[in-house]
Amino acid sequence: MTISAPDYILSIKPYVPGKPLEEVQREYGIEKSVKLASNENPLGPSPKAIEAISESLASLNRYPDGSGYMLVNKLSARLGVSPSNIVLGNGSDDIIAMLARVFLKPGCEVIIPHPSFLMYEISAKASGASLVKVPLNSLSIDLDGIKNAVTGKTRMIFLCNPNNPTGTIITNDEFEKFAKDIPENVILVVDEAYIEFVRDLSCLDSMTYLDGKNPLVILRTFSKAYGLAGLRIGYGITSVEISDLLNRVRQPFNTSLPAQAGACAALDDTKFLENTIRTVHDGLDFLYESLDGMGVEYFPTQANFMLINVKKNAHEVFEAMLRQGVIVRSMTSYGYPEFIRINSGTPYENKKFIKAFEKVMG
Ligand SMILES: *Cc1c(COP(=O)(O)O)cnc(C)c1O
Repeated sequence: MTISAPDYILSIKPYVPGKPLEEVQREYGIEKSVKLASNENPLGPSPKAIEAISESLASLNRYPDGSGYMLVNKLSARLGVSPSNIVLGNGSDDIIAMLARVFLKPGCEVIIPHPSFLMYEISAKASGASLVKVPLNSLSIDLDGIKNAVTGKTRMIFLCNPNNPTGTIITNDEFEKFAKDIPENVILVVDEAYIEFVRDLSCLDSMTYLDGKNPLVILRTFSKAYGLAGLRIGYGITSVEISDLLNRVRQPFNTSLPAQAGACAALDDTKFLENTIRTVHDGLDFLYESLDGMGVEYFPTQANFMLINVKKNAHEVFEAMLRQGVIVRSMTSYGYPEFIRINSGTPYENKKFIKAFEKVMG
């Protein structure tokens, strides 16, 4: 048997997720470990979402509503856009994949900041598009660099705001200046997976550009602030023209019945959302203060995670932290061999991290 795949598929390096808790506990024989590696919600899912998901289970013999009517309408009312401006995805990863499938093919170019979220690269490569990586400038997305990288072949630009893994943002002023020089046929994708955590008021308000000169797709998710990463649900906000094209390739039942029910309930659970945001912010402030006390370099963030410069082999620090029962993310595969990324957890988790980190750093 001979199996062949196009070169652009062979060029894809599989996504390496943060280590699952159970795996670490099994491998290291640790009872109670703490995971701060995947920017997940430390408070668990919203209790209202759990209730709605449980109630939905009795109907699992039925296909879900492929259009996600209830959720789309709830989002539409919340966001002040028409339901036809919203596309649901099996996580926002799914929307990224749909965008690549609809708009990209061999010969066209996609500009991505580097380092940023790895799924942009994987999806663009899966369509055979050429990647143009523009390095960050002092950990921020280099909008001038991106502008200079635009050619006649550029089809799409990914912007991650706040950027994963650096936690930096694009401001309204910066975006305004940037977008006016981007050709009208270039699709701007603004990934706002962490937008709920932003404290800086100058942050880009992308919704105001939905009717702007460039086609725009805003990506949001229930995986982070809403605590539903395991449920897999996210959405895109875009023009009717783009949502129509995305819906042509969207799997008809890409969001499950429990996912739609859970997301609807999570949207209504404003208390849980507020509690999450407060917990994350308090946690970050605690971590800043503790790291300051240790004299460790870190980078203040607008998301729920941050980079720490460990000034030694990040993979070794990751391993040593695992042995202490704390899962962090080594940034080696992102091109920062001496950085780790952690997210803000519960007060208990953050304290456990600092204690372990003090031991590991010596
Ligand atoms: C976590 C994350 C997502 C969310 O992906 P889902 O598929 O919705 O879980 C999207 N973009 C970035 C930058 C992320 O970090």
